[in-house]
Amino acid sequence: MNNKKRQVSLQRAAELKSRIDDYLEERKNIPRGLEMAAVLEARKKKILQILGGTEEDWKDYRWQLKNRISDVETLYKIINLTESEKKQIEEVATKFRWAISPYYLSLINPEDKFDPIRLMAIPAYKELEDECNDFDPMGEEFTNPAGSITRRYPDRLIINVTNECAMYCRHCQRRRNIGEEDIGTPRSVIQESIDYIRENEEIRDVLITGGDALCLTDETLEWILSQLKEIPHVEYIRLGSRTLVTMPQRVTDEFCQMIKKYHPIYINTHFNHPAEITPESKEACEKLVNVGVPLGNQAVLLNGVNNNKYVMRLLNHELLKCRVRPYYIFHAKHVAGTTHFNTSIDDGLEIMEYLRGYTSGMAIPTFIVNAPKGLGKTPLFPNYLISRGKDYVTIRTWEGEVIDYENHQTKDIRELIE
Ligand SMILES: *Cc1c(COP(=O)(O)O)cnc(C)c1O
Repeated sequence: MNNKKRQVSLQRAAELKSRIDDYLEERKNIPRGLEMAAVLEARKKKILQILGGTEEDWKDYRWQLKNRISDVETLYKIINLTESEKKQIEEVATKFRWAISPYYLSLINPEDKFDPIRLMAIPAYKELEDECNDFDPMGEEFTNPAGSITRRYPDRLIINVTNECAMYCRHCQRRRNIGEEDIGTPRSVIQESIDYIRENEEIRDVLITGGDALCLTDETLEWILSQLKEIPHVEYIRLGSRTLVTMPQRVTDEFCQMIKKYHPIYINTHFNHPAEITPESKEACEKLVNVGVPLGNQAVLLNGVNNNKYVMRLLNHELLKCRVRPYYIFHAKHVAGTTHFNTSIDDGLEIMEYLRGYTSGMAIPTFIVNAPKGLGKTPLFPNYLISRGKDYVTIRTWEGEVIDYENHQTKDIRELIE
């Protein structure tokens, strides 16, 4: 290569490297589950000892579910709590229930009051002091044409199949459904939902969620999937589940063998922080991808958890290592008991600004604001289109360069090619 060209290239390469020096430095301070195998192993041993379980029990999701921690005294044996924190948790529990799988509890650094996993899992007194009293800002209760369906779009809809979860996220946006006990949607109501889909031919995409779709038994899920598969206009099925994050043991070999009979199946999960991506959750993701289930991630932008451009970039990188494609980042809505997690829209836009160009397109989800009253997901982007002239547009590059770009009317292909 000509010496001049090589020199220009080397200079540009150095400049490009300087664009991510800050990230490489900051990344060192962000806990990553995949690098914490030894620490997680030690915490697991301690929790097993306290709960009187074995290594085999740990791998069994039924044991994980049955042993969800939901009393302060057991929690106190595992996580550092002051007397006043213990009282506060008990008080919150009178209004909002909580339960944490032993596995998910092992991800918490017991000494750190602001540990991101702790914020998502352990009740905060702030939940009771919330000025917001709206439990349904999306008006989901007005978008239920039949059974347990939520329909907000022309060609796709949700069936809510349970209110159960392996862990009750403190930021849950459907808190009003969580209630005090696990309620599977009755089969008759699910049947009514399936019948609605059968009768409405424009529905080509069905999303099964709740609660958590994987809190159903394999048998009940199969009962739903086999019926949907028989409907000719249903082109594929999606499942929404956070168990890959909160109780990865749920992804058993039997489940994988069952699910692959009903392809095309897609699963969207909900990782919010790199500390949640552990060897165990990675294994669950890989098992699903290996039976042909493409995985996507829907993160929620949460104050103190991931409203940080470096944390989000790292999260998306860690997801791709597990073959999970980042899909959405949701702006958290104003839901009673959760507003301490709310961030500005600007936090989300800044995150998006420092993804495009800085990292692979593969690692870039869409930032979504849910319009009030169920009016739908609305994508927000940093501005790259500055203005539109007569024969050009003015655009801004990821590095902030402003340039004109020619823009002519599209000509009729039949006039261009004879
Ligand atoms: C989010 C959502 C969907 C799925 O939307 P996509 O943008 O296709 O992922 C479908 N129905 C309802 C009611 C939803 O809230």
